[in-house]
Amino acid sequence: MTEPNSGSQPADVDEYDHFIDGEFVASTGDDRFDVVYPYDGSVWATVPLGTSGDIDRAVETARKAFDSDAWGELRPAERAALLHAIADTLDAHVDELAELETRQNGKLIREMGAQMAGLGEYFRYYASLCRTREGRTIPVDNKNGDFFTYVKKEPYGVVAAVTPWNSPLLLTAFKLAPALAAGCTFVHKPSSHTAVSALRFAELLSDAGLPAGVYNVVTGSGGTAGDALVNHDDVDKVAFTGSTAVGRQIGASAGEKLVPVSLELGGKSPNIVFPSANLENAINGIVKGIFAATGQTCLAGSRVFVHEEIAEAIVDRLVDRASSIRLGDPMDPETEMGPVAFRGQLETIRSYIETAREEGATISHGGTQPDNLPGECFFEPTIVTDVDDADTVVREEIFGPVASVLTFTDEDEVIGRANDSPYGLAAGVWTEDMRQAQRVADRLEAGTVWVNEYRTLAYNAPFGGYKDSGLGRELGREGLEAYLQTKTVWIDQSGTVDDPFTLG
Ligand code: NAP
Ligand code: MG
Repeated sequence: MTEPNSGSQPADVDEYDHFIDGEFVASTGDDRFDVVYPYDGSVWATVPLGTSGDIDRAVETARKAFDSDAWGELRPAERAALLHAIADTLDAHVDELAELETRQNGKLIREMGAQMAGLGEYFRYYASLCRTREGRTIPVDNKNGDFFTYVKKEPYGVVAAVTPWNSPLLLTAFKLAPALAAGCTFVHKPSSHTAVSALRFAELLSDAGLPAGVYNVVTGSGGTAGDALVNHDDVDKVAFTGSTAVGRQIGASAGEKLVPVSLELGGKSPNIVFPSANLENAINGIVKGIFAATGQTCLAGSRVFVHEEIAEAIVDRLVDRASSIRLGDPMDPETEMGPVAFRGQLETIRSYIETAREEGATISHGGTQPDNLPGECFFEPTIVTDVDDADTVVREEIFGPVASVLTFTDEDEVIGRANDSPYGLAAGVWTEDMRQAQRVADRLEAGTVWVNEYRTLAYNAPFGGYKDSGLGRELGREGLEAYLQTKTVWIDQSGTVDDPFTLG
C-alpha cells in the first residue's frame, strides 16, 4: 500500500530516480513515496511512484538489451566472469548495502550484514552453472534412428520481477542471479518501502560491467507500476515474491496471457516438537522461527506444535526466553528484535492479537507495544496459547512476532493438523529419533523441511512452496531452470522423406 506524498522535504532527504538503461532516469510522473526508517519514523529518502510510461520505457530497454549481441552473444566464460565481477563488487559494498536495508525496513544490522556478506555467493554459484550447463542428445526410434536430435535451453527473454520489503536484496538475488546466468534481461519493481537499496544495487551492477539495459529498476506502487509491469505485453516471464493474495492475482493474469510465472508466496509453517527432542535446541529453533526478523519472514514457524508431555515445560521456557529478548535499535549489533517494518504492518499484527483475544486465546507473553522505545513500530514477542486449529491467528499469516502454541498427542495426528493449512512453504521437526524425523519429513506438505534446525537457506538448495505458498522453485539448479525454456531440434540424416501422411 502506498500513499503519494506531496509536501516539501527537509534538506537531508535523498531523492532517487528510476534506474533504466544504465542510468538514473526521472519518472514521467510527479508523485513520490517516502522511505521511512521504522526505528524512529524519520523520512530519509523519496522514490518516484512510477507510471506505466516508465514501465514501458524500462521493458523496451530490457528488450533491446536482450536482443543485443553485447548480451546475447556472451560466451559461458564471459558470462561467468561478469557474474564474478558483480559478486566482487557486492562484497566490496557489504556495509553500505546492509545499512541501506536496515534503514528501509528496520531489520537488524547483524542480519542484514550477514545477508549482504553472502549475496555475492549467489552470483558465484550461478556463474558456476553458466560454465557447466549442457544440453543433451536423444536417441530417437524414428526412421531407425536416422536423426540427430538434441535438446537445448534458451533464455525466456525479458523478466518482470516484483519483490517484497522483508529481505529486499536477497530475494532480488534469488531471481536476478539465475536470470542473468540464463541470459535473460530484467525489469524490477521493488517494494515501495525498500526501493532505495534496489536502485543502489543497480548502480553497483552497472559499475561491475553489466551492460546497460540488462537490469532496470522502476520504483512505485504495486497497483500501478507493479501491475503495469506484470501485465506488460512484451514481458516473457514473471517472477514474484510476496503475499498469496497478490500472487494469486498475478498468476491469474499471467495465465490469461500464457506467460510463465514463478510465485514465492506466504506461509503458516508448522514447527513440531516431539517428546524426544533436545529441548534447549527446540526452544532456540522456535525463537529463531518466529522472533528472528521480528517474525516478518515468509518461512516463519508461526504454528508451534508441542507434544502434550512437554507442552508446559516448553511454554514456560519460551515465555522466559521471549521476556529476555533485547528489543531496540536495529543498528546496534547487540539488538535481537527490531521494529516492525512500517505502521500498517504493526496495525495488522495488533488487530490479529485483538481477534485472538476475542476468540478466547490466552496471550501468555507480549501482545502489546513496548512503551520505552522510539517510533511507532515496536511490538513485543508474543506467545499465544489456548488456541484451536480453526482460530484466525492459527490459520492466517500474520507476518509478525506472534507464535501460536498448540499441543498434540501423536505423530499421525500432528502430521494431519500440520498439513491442514492452505499454505505449504516450510516446516520444522524436532526429534532425536531419526526414523521419526524422516517419516514425518516425508509426509509434511511443505517445500522445505528442517530437522533439528530452522530458517536456513543456501544458494544451491531449492526453495519454494507447496499449495498456496507458491509455484516453482528458486535457488539451486531449479532456480536456473525457471529462466530457461526448452528447444528440441531434429536433424534428419537419412536424406529421404517417406510417407508424408503419417506422424513419423
Ligand atoms: P505484497 O503486498 O504481496 O507485495 C509484494 C510486492 O508486490 C510489492 O512490491 C508490492 O508493491 C507489489 N504488488 C502489490 N500489489 C500488486 C499488483 N496488483 N500487481 C503487481 N505488484 C503488486 O507483499 P508484502 O506485504 O510486500 O510482503 C509480505 C508477503 O510476502 C508475505 O505474505 C510473505 O510471506 C511473502 N514473502 C514470501 C517469500 C517467499 O519466498 N515465499 C519471501 C518473502 C516474503 P507495493 O507494496 O510497493 O505497493
Ligand atoms: Mg503490501
